[in-house]
Amino acid sequence: MISKKTINNILSEYDSKKIRIGTICSHSALQIFHGARQEGFATLGICTEDRKKVYEAFPLATPDEFLIVDNFKDIVKEKFQDNLRDKNVIIVPHGSFVEYVGPEALLTFFNVPMFGNRKTLEWEGDRSKQRIWLEKADLKLPKEYKHPSEIDGKVFVKFSGAKGGKGFFTANSETEYYKKLKEKVKKGIIREEDSLNAAIQEFVSGVRYYNHYFFSIFENYGFKVGKGALELLSMDKRIEPIDESQRGLPDVPEEFYDYTVTGNQPVIVRESLLPKIFEMGNKTILSSIRLFPPGMLGAFCLETIYQPEKGFTVFEISARIVAGTNLYPTNSPYSVYIFKEQMSTGRRIARELKTGIETNALDKIVF
Ligand code: AMP
Repeated sequence: MISKKTINNILSEYDSKKIRIGTICSHSALQIFHGARQEGFATLGICTEDRKKVYEAFPLATPDEFLIVDNFKDIVKEKFQDNLRDKNVIIVPHGSFVEYVGPEALLTFFNVPMFGNRKTLEWEGDRSKQRIWLEKADLKLPKEYKHPSEIDGKVFVKFSGAKGGKGFFTANSETEYYKKLKEKVKKGIIREEDSLNAAIQEFVSGVRYYNHYFFSIFENYGFKVGKGALELLSMDKRIEPIDESQRGLPDVPEEFYDYTVTGNQPVIVRESLLPKIFEMGNKTILSSIRLFPPGMLGAFCLETIYQPEKGFTVFEISARIVAGTNLYPTNSPYSVYIFKEQMSTGRRIARELKTGIETNALDKIVF
């Protein structure tokens, strides 16, 4: 893995007055560019030629400069890395960034400073490590089945990486599990190699809440955690075809049994549930500090299902900005109570970087 020392050395060569914020043109890039600009940063978009037009279609969120690649994976090539470093770029990783380039490549070859703690990618990307992180945080998690033969109730079957729910399915028995898995591979919905690494979880019933947090080590107002502050910036709920399956009643067409994320809706929780939401965020941070210091920094999302009798179950963590935050480019029903000015997650990241620069502590939040 790339060492922190290597990145610190690169960072020390950067001109702190000319830092650019860069990311891959996908996922939450518009929000990241828009927010960076609001905080006075220049921006760079890593883009493919065919997507450029889309990013020019939103002038207030168009990056100041494009770095055109044939394939996003190419970004680890030396000539592109040199280009990014020459331009003092700090990368803000998002879900598609990690999915397209791959956590392995980012951890091993990508010597460009990134916002946050790079070690987080390893703890998020490796399913068993993620489980240890959340278990040690003492969060309620869905039961996991090591082998299909253990299936003893309704299970939810998923595949690693930010696949956006594509190919995920439910099963009630080992026989049903193999039958559905085979069908999906045959139809090309999931790859053979992914099918060998399926995660089998208890199917959790209830209402989904995707909580968007931000942990700042520079602030100590509001909800204090360790030496920093935990902000609840916003919340969303994903929209998946299965959510609308009742439209096909009484004989629901097969196509509705699909968990692919197609969009996001804004939500808020009952105010009396907020203590639990903060408690979960708090424990997640503290556990990360113990396991991989300095722990989780910046934006992250706990994906939860709430059932009144069982409380919140956390089925996933996204340890970076999530696309659900795109709902709130200005403010959310929570961020208005923290900031007087407009504040998106993208802008919040830029603000943290700005504080890092102003206090000469950029190396504390960049790895
Ligand atoms: P994920 O990629 O893990 O965020 O999952 C995609 C979607 O699958 C979620 O938005 C949920 O609707 C659903 N899901 C994931 N895990 C579970 C689970 N254990 N029980 C029920 N639904 C789940």
